Amino acid sequence: MARQFFVGGNFKANGTKSSITQIVENLNTQDLPKEVEVVVCPPSLYIDLVVKENKQPTVQVGAQNVFNKPCGAFTGELCAEQILDAGAKWTLTGHSERRTIIKESDEFIAEKTKYALDHGLSVILCIGETLEERKSGITLQVCARQLDAVSKIVSDWSKVVVAYEPVWAIGTGLAATPDDAQETHKEIREHLVKTIGKDQAEATRILYGGSVNGKNAVEFKDKPDIDGFLVGGASLKPEFVNIIKSRL
Ligand code: PEP
Repeated sequence: MARQFFVGGNFKANGTKSSITQIVENLNTQDLPKEVEVVVCPPSLYIDLVVKENKQPTVQVGAQNVFNKPCGAFTGELCAEQILDAGAKWTLTGHSERRTIIKESDEFIAEKTKYALDHGLSVILCIGETLEERKSGITLQVCARQLDAVSKIVSDWSKVVVAYEPVWAIGTGLAATPDDAQETHKEIREHLVKTIGKDQAEATRILYGGSVNGKNAVEFKDKPDIDGFLVGGASLKPEFVNIIKSRL
């Protein structure tokens, strides 16, 4: 089954009104391929700005985080209803910076994912192992554990995109090799076949994330289980467009 190529841009806590406006204006002037789904995730303060400035029909907007409860007395949090109200249709969950720095648990991430899906958002669910875990040979076990927390409480995966992001590759300039990434993506898909069923596993897009840039994106082109990218640093630069066009 053909899965639509997907490129996400995670701006993290970077940018100002001015620099984010420039990024969107640059995207607006590009001839982007119609067949590529693009989602940019600015800091939540700037979601409204990006929604208003974006003129590209294939570019959608996402949040970087969401809470697991409705709007209410949760100081500092962002609820799914507000994200939708601002015009964004997506959210990231489980980014490794939230797993490792903010210490979000698999269960909390699963609850956020479920809440977001139940309330109309699509979700880019991030998973991936640390360097120590990779060295210990438990990459798949870690990814499986992170995925299982979600599949335990979410049965419909039609609005979930999985982003496999080895923690050691994020922001380090040290991307996984296309062969290594393909191998892990294949194992992740095989695991999903067992937990959410063959049809859903085959339809679910699995993105690679970790030091993807305008030059190396094309090297992943022929890998059958790599359905796109989640991009951090390079999504703030003009080379993001090369990544979007890397499958042409
Ligand atoms: C990310 O933050 O999701 C990411 C992949 O970052 P980078 O592309 O900078 O490694």
